[in-house]
Amino acid sequence: MAGGEMSPIYPWQRVQWERIEAARKEDRLPHALLLTGVRGVGKRHFTGALARAHLCRYRNSEGFACGDCDSCLQYQAGTHPDFLLVHPEREGRAITVDNTRRVTEFLTLKSHHGAGRVVLLEPAEAMNPAAANSLLKTLEEPPPGSLLILVTSVPGSLLATIRSRCQQMVITADRGVAERWLRQQAEGENWELLLRLAGDAPLRALQLQEDGLLTKRMELLEALERIAHSRSDPVSAVPRPLEQEQAAEILFWLDSWLMDMNRLKQVSRPPRLVNLDVEDRLRQLAARCDGRQLFAFHERVTRAAGQLHQPLNSQLMLEELFIAWAHLTRAHDD
Ligand SMILES: [Zn+2]
Repeated sequence: MAGGEMSPIYPWQRVQWERIEAARKEDRLPHALLLTGVRGVGKRHFTGALARAHLCRYRNSEGFACGDCDSCLQYQAGTHPDFLLVHPEREGRAITVDNTRRVTEFLTLKSHHGAGRVVLLEPAEAMNPAAANSLLKTLEEPPPGSLLILVTSVPGSLLATIRSRCQQMVITADRGVAERWLRQQAEGENWELLLRLAGDAPLRALQLQEDGLLTKRMELLEALERIAHSRSDPVSAVPRPLEQEQAAEILFWLDSWLMDMNRLKQVSRPPRLVNLDVEDRLRQLAARCDGRQLFAFHERVTRAAGQLHQPLNSQLMLEELFIAWAHLTRAHDD
């Protein structure tokens, strides 16, 4: 790789890359790969590098694409005849049986460049049941030389039959490696805290720092406190209109705080607390709640987060959650 050129993968992904390379060298690269990992760990980046390398004519010694051959140039131009990207037609929509039938057709065609064909399907959980079922046979007997990469951050929501036909690979980020990389992006930030809040996902930690999401986090915590003390109306805490991204953000923080509140409810000094910067405030909120109800409320929030991809009224869903929060935290005030 040239001196100043950026590596095609993130430094914490080296372990997984080397594992794939070892498999490739021993000619036991799986035909169907299920790539998982939390949001913000760089799955898209990694799969892009993998697809490019699989199609390249002159991979370098580390197994990365050369960047110069006709295959690499076509890939970069988005016109590679042996590469198919499968996405939902619109954000939040399903991947349909028409999409997956196209995958099957595509893979049976002969490769233009002779290096095989690559399909990247993302997010895999967006496949509806008919789409998933129609893909099963292709996963079972993929044509020689083909590589089918499914990407998801919620592997549990895929059909077990899909999971069992793919080789799973989890992308995780080593904290030390991730912190070093984050310090190179910006100095003087509390990366340790940001990384912990981001669930060890470095790109998410970077996003928290860049988009001022931490300010929004504190505003949301203040809103929860005001509701608990009957100083504001729960429904008014939900932005109107509510963007899908905002809903996901609110549910992310609720989930993180409720997990900590449940831990604080069980032991006075829980070892794996995430939100250390607001520990006392979470402790005070937890003290207002009945333990079992708090646990049930957390489960409800987790379920709600899992339903965000489905067509439903997320405004109403969040308003109901905040009303439930008011009931939970105001019970002892009467
Ligand atoms: Zn190349």
